[in-house]
Amino acid sequence: MARSSQCARIFCAPGNAGIEREPKTSLVSKEELDCDKHEDVVEFCNENGVSLVVIGPEAELVAGLADSLRENGIRAFGPSRKAAQLEGSKTFMKDLCDKYGIPTAGYEVFVDPEKAKAYLGRKDEFPVVVKADGLAAGKGVVVAQTMEEATEAVDSMLLGNRFGSAGSSIVIEDFLAGEEASFFVIVDSKGNTQPLHSAQDHKAAYDGDRGPNTGGMGAYSPAPVLTPEMEAEVMESVIEPLVRGLREEGCPFQGVIFAGLMIDDEGAVKVLEFNVRFGDPECEVLMHRLQTDLLDIILSSCDGTLDKFDDDGEGIQWRDDPALVVIMAAEGYPGEYDKGTVIKMIEEEEGGGGAKVFHAGTKEGEEGETLAVGGRVLAVTASGSTVKEAQKKAYEAVDNRIDWPQGFCRRDIGWRAVQREERDE
Ligand code: AMP
Repeated sequence: MARSSQCARIFCAPGNAGIEREPKTSLVSKEELDCDKHEDVVEFCNENGVSLVVIGPEAELVAGLADSLRENGIRAFGPSRKAAQLEGSKTFMKDLCDKYGIPTAGYEVFVDPEKAKAYLGRKDEFPVVVKADGLAAGKGVVVAQTMEEATEAVDSMLLGNRFGSAGSSIVIEDFLAGEEASFFVIVDSKGNTQPLHSAQDHKAAYDGDRGPNTGGMGAYSPAPVLTPEMEAEVMESVIEPLVRGLREEGCPFQGVIFAGLMIDDEGAVKVLEFNVRFGDPECEVLMHRLQTDLLDIILSSCDGTLDKFDDDGEGIQWRDDPALVVIMAAEGYPGEYDKGTVIKMIEEEEGGGGAKVFHAGTKEGEEGETLAVGGRVLAVTASGSTVKEAQKKAYEAVDNRIDWPQGFCRRDIGWRAVQREERDE
């Protein structure tokens, strides 16, 4: 957004060391502005002449920050509290899919653990998938291979109070086999839509997609499994009824829809989940490929003018070249890890065809050094004429530009796409 000629200044709350070094950008610390206090955000905007707020995380969207801003005449990019239920409540999402004929896995909703277990007892096929209803930072889903695992998940969600009110009801879903991909669409305040692109991420912490699940250890875009024909089908059979359904339910959606999809061997697509924001690390690869002014897209979403991208017949412009991102995380993540270790980095001019290092959990130290203060810390992003080339460039940057002994990354990001490229050669 900072690159846009329409952008004068960006405040980022709370931001990180990387964002601080971008042009036009200043950080606003958590002490200066607590984004959970909506009236404080409104006041900050009024005092600083902020005309647009882009809301990143799901928690603020589900808490209704976009509503508070709009009620006070400030543009906000992101759905209302009600529309954010699409991500905030699995029950809401599944019932909406059911009502509007959006393809997704078969399911039942339970609040009573005994009824849930009786239902599991009637299942003759495992795995099944047990999901806590509310936001659980990606940890509220259990793919249970056996009756015992499923029972344990039900008990821990409904009786154990593991997820607080997020787990007060659960969804038990049929297991879907296949390959996962994500697809992104921008929706404006009038219900116009513009497809963005697809991506695939690696959730597991270690090589070979093994180990505990994380917020994402790497990604690439586009997702080769999703053909242009399949994308058109997703627009027609998923996005169109979803956007219409949300309007009919009295909660029109504005912002970005991130559809988590499962594609089976026959190419049939079903929805696993919806997120109501750009995901990380998918966002990095999408932004690396985007050529149209992002701020223009976001303002058009807020103002209901996304159809202007149709009118000129060009749509939103992308680099054809695939992009790939490798996440560097603190040793120990997703378990316990140290904070405050020093990262040394060789900066490179942007546009030099090299990799871009986006920051996540970093902070600038007192001497201007970069400190790691989170689990996932750097997102090293590169593009190339093939995924293999993008992968090579990203790992070259990891090896040659970053000196951080307390960090680690996976060494096989993009393996599935690279294998596909080699097979098609
Ligand atoms: P969700 O937050 O609902 O997307 O679930 C998180 C992850 O759990 C997904 O990315 C899938 O890997 C897995 N998952 C969720 N639902 C299913 C399902 N019905 N069948 C197979 N895997 C699933």
